[in-house]
Amino acid sequence: MKLSKNLAAGFAFASLLASGIAVSASAPAQAAPVTSVEVVQLAAAKKTIALTFDDGPSKYTPQVLDILKRNNVKATFCMLGNNVGSYAATARRVVREGHRLCNHSRSHPNFTKLSNSAARNQITWTQNKIYSVTKVKPKVFRFPYGASNSRVRTVVRDQNLRILGWTVDTRDWSRPGTSTITSRAVKGARNGGVILMHDGGGNRSQTVASLNATIKQLKAKGYTFVLA
Ligand SMILES: [Zn+2]
Repeated sequence: MKLSKNLAAGFAFASLLASGIAVSASAPAQAAPVTSVEVVQLAAAKKTIALTFDDGPSKYTPQVLDILKRNNVKATFCMLGNNVGSYAATARRVVREGHRLCNHSRSHPNFTKLSNSAARNQITWTQNKIYSVTKVKPKVFRFPYGASNSRVRTVVRDQNLRILGWTVDTRDWSRPGTSTITSRAVKGARNGGVILMHDGGGNRSQTVASLNATIKQLKAKGYTFVLA
């Protein structure tokens, strides 16, 4: 019965973490010898990762959605305003299936080269377009190319948007091969990480072909998927 008792203790601590109560991760080690079961449960409670897809929606987005659905995974989609009208049904499906929308500008410019008003127009045009199609207003924004400075970050924040970065760049857009995309995502994963992939902007067949293995391997490593 020792095992089941330890299991119960592990679950109890995991649920403490999940409920947001501040608990020092080292506390159990000081209170009592840490069993292997407890270590597994602690790790499971903390290992979260977010999948993000940029530059869509596109004709590849439904395939991405199918794979996410099959694996019961939710992700964040950083959409270009100019693509939303042409793929309105797909944009609505993203929302319907529980994923998060993110504003990725209207036409993917380098924001550091834009005036404040041009930057603001890129953001608000896309907010309005996404809202008119999906009835959802994104609360997060990702800079094209990740290119920003303090001036344009202020423009974004003045629109009440949170800036979303990433911790793992799969460089899937360069079409390095499906197994390379998966291994970059899995090897780069860490707790609280954000993985960057692309469902639009070009031929994304490798991204689609790699996604199931990426999810399976991240799950096998104990990650749970969260919205970025
Ligand atoms: Zn992009």
